[in-house]
Amino acid sequence: MLMIMNPDVTEKEVAELEKRLEECGCHVSRSREEKGLVLRLSGEIKEEAEIAVRSTPFVKKVVNLPYPFELVSRMYRERRTVFTVGGVEIGGEKVVIMAGPCAVEGRDTFIQTAEAVKQGGADILRGGAYKPRSSPYSFQGLGEEGLKILAEARSLTGLPVVTEVLDHASVEVVAEYADILQVGARNMQNFSLLKELGQSGKPVLIKRGMSATIEEWLMAAEYLLSEGNGKVILCERGIRTFERYTRNTLDLSAVPIAKELSHLPVFVDPSHGTGQWRWVSPMSLAAVAAGADGLIIEVHSSPKEALCDGKQSLLPEKFYHMVSSLKKVAKTVGRSL
Ligand code: PEP
Ligand code: MN
Repeated sequence: MLMIMNPDVTEKEVAELEKRLEECGCHVSRSREEKGLVLRLSGEIKEEAEIAVRSTPFVKKVVNLPYPFELVSRMYRERRTVFTVGGVEIGGEKVVIMAGPCAVEGRDTFIQTAEAVKQGGADILRGGAYKPRSSPYSFQGLGEEGLKILAEARSLTGLPVVTEVLDHASVEVVAEYADILQVGARNMQNFSLLKELGQSGKPVLIKRGMSATIEEWLMAAEYLLSEGNGKVILCERGIRTFERYTRNTLDLSAVPIAKELSHLPVFVDPSHGTGQWRWVSPMSLAAVAAGADGLIIEVHSSPKEALCDGKQSLLPEKFYHMVSSLKKVAKTVGRSL
């Protein structure tokens, strides 16, 4: 429940109301929003609390949220979340491109690819150092060595880096090297990890779980915000359906829906969303047309030799070509790139 206060309410009146509501067992938090001072009541709202709210003269409006997410919702905050990572504005007018290989495979190849994607128009570098693989026998990533390569690539190119954090044990080390921490689809509902990342204060890119509804995805983001971390990017990366031509079914309708429901920036990952490099470009164009605030694209200089996800990785030349087409679509929908 949200309570929007009258503009002339005094600090004393608000403090007294908060105290009364807390005595009724509610958790109360306040924030200054465009619509005025907002008190947010969470937890079980008992009848005494309802009565307290309704009998208070300086409450301008009471909003009962029609869904379980609160802090991520646009009913709570109308203004879109915009934040900057290493000089790159996320959630603003410009569509942000994250690009790089699925995994950091070695220093020289990664630096080469980093320079190539920068030239091609990428704003942020991607590359996994800790990989969540379906098989324990597949390449698991270079670990901390991979993080060091990411950091070196950042200092050579000036591009900030995004990389996946797989578990509690690696949060500290990943946070030390990376600019954005990625929560993979498989970890979207790892609530204890989300709580820890919420406390880390580092920007987080949260992928939609492969079997998660939009509501569950937004609730996962709610965990991060409820711990005080507002620098969150939602990322649609395809969901599991009966369709087998694609690795996942990229749910582009999630883009306008998530943007209508939430003030958080929404990105799209057409690489994991389709599983085939040939479909990455058309789905990227469609994602920008649908209102995506950014894309995360797998690029590899030699996809056939990639240790992970080569089939869905674009060659750098194909990436350049795609970015030039994306510019036209971005312009059509009133964005730049
Ligand atoms: C990735 O981005 O490399 C990745 C593993 O993505 P997802 O969690 O969406 O499968
Ligand atoms: Mn991948």
